Amino acid sequence: MKNQTETFLSSVEKMFDQAADLVGISDDLRHKIKVANSTYTVRFGVRLRNRLYTFTGYRSVHSEHREPVKGGIRYSPHADQSEVEALAALMSYKCALVEAPFGGSKGALAIDPSEWEEHELERITRRFTQELAKRSLISPAQNVPAPDMGTGEREMAWMADEYKRLYPSDLNSWGCVTGKPVSKGGIRGRVEATGRGIQYALREAFRHPKDIALSGLSGTLDGKRIVVQGLGNVGYHATKFLSQEDGAIVVGVIERDGAVVDHSGIDVDSLYQYIRDTGGVKNYDGYKDNSNSVLTMNCDVLIPAAMEGVITKENAKDIKAKIIIEAANGPITFTANEMLRERGCLIIPDLYANAGGVTVSYFEWVKNLSHIRLGRMQRRDHERQTLNMVDAIEEMVGAKFPKEHLEKIVEGPTELDLVRSGLDDVMREAYQVMSAKWHSDSRIPDLRTAAMMIALERIRDSYNSLGI
Ligand code: NAD
Repeated sequence: MKNQTETFLSSVEKMFDQAADLVGISDDLRHKIKVANSTYTVRFGVRLRNRLYTFTGYRSVHSEHREPVKGGIRYSPHADQSEVEALAALMSYKCALVEAPFGGSKGALAIDPSEWEEHELERITRRFTQELAKRSLISPAQNVPAPDMGTGEREMAWMADEYKRLYPSDLNSWGCVTGKPVSKGGIRGRVEATGRGIQYALREAFRHPKDIALSGLSGTLDGKRIVVQGLGNVGYHATKFLSQEDGAIVVGVIERDGAVVDHSGIDVDSLYQYIRDTGGVKNYDGYKDNSNSVLTMNCDVLIPAAMEGVITKENAKDIKAKIIIEAANGPITFTANEMLRERGCLIIPDLYANAGGVTVSYFEWVKNLSHIRLGRMQRRDHERQTLNMVDAIEEMVGAKFPKEHLEKIVEGPTELDLVRSGLDDVMREAYQVMSAKWHSDSRIPDLRTAAMMIALERIRDSYNSLGI
């Protein structure tokens, strides 16, 4: 992807410029917001397999108009400074759009995790954490990483533990990273949060028939044909929920080593397990080695959930999906976005679509700082109040409440219920604001520009109120 003339960073900057032209903002502030505040490159040695290996890591801080800054850390052999800067900028805009009170940051370690044993990865991750901590690039108050491509709960637990060892008297040390396992200060619902957010985003889009009609679709998600690229954390959870809870049919899955097609619907749980067991999709029922033809096959909704820069000016003309929801960051380049828009494809942009992850990370961080599980204080009080009300109703009407209803309404919300409720609320409200903005001015060409404009207006206001 690195040889593209249109890089990920240049695409993000062009999208920024397009929105900034429509937002009232001074040139100097516009420049200040556009560029990354700082990007650190750290090189560190770890002695493994009887020799010293040097690893290269990055942490870019895009905007500190709110602190801490927030953004994932990916493990990818292709990572470089330009990529993390593009991702950090997207984090600033994403957080502003969904009103998560953070500035934007992103990190990466240039490593292929599949080449290392678990105990080796742990040592590398702990050393990387030390390098980040030395520069305040991991801290509950200043910079809070999270999982991304190639990282998950396990890496976040190692990072949190290493930070705790370095700062044993920091009472809030669990809040130094999010996406941790529940047993290490994590929150229920974080692992699947980004995929769950994709589901909530699509549900809300289908509650806006005017938007959906532009793509030529109508109705609900039931029976809609889905193709997904990347059956990792985000792609797997999104397609699992959409197929098992909304009646959508997953007709194509594209992975690194090929694709799987089944017009009657792919069982994503079974395919996900197969990938875990065998390392890829090869030889699964419906396997095809030409994955490009699956990216461009006929479908209603395409979910690129692997990496950036996969839909470019070279293949955009062949894409037949009516809706593309950007689960990955930056999968569609600026030029491809224009081409797809012109032919009526509805694009639900990354800075909104995959914000479920940072939204639930925000809930986790709040949980860590408050040192109490969400809902702990209210649950039994809700039960007591509901039972009082039920008693009063039974007395008034002289009849007993049906038992099956009673059990459902008496039980107060669990942590997972609250996380889902909060996430659903954020995804619905952000879509509504974005869609209203899009339709408010004929010069705003699409949801992406509307989303970017809202983010920029909020960041501008934040800087202006600081007197900068
Ligand atoms: P992951 O590593 O769990 O999954 C990525 C999947 O894509 C893997 O199954 C991998 O095999 C596949 N893949 C990689 N290269 C591919 C290619 N060229 N073609 C087809 N498949 C390919 O990563 P993830 O956490 O699911 O992240 C995926 C994307 O979502 C990234 O762009 C990431 O920045 C974005 N994202 C992730 C989160 C999160 O919470 N994990 C949040 C927001 C955005």
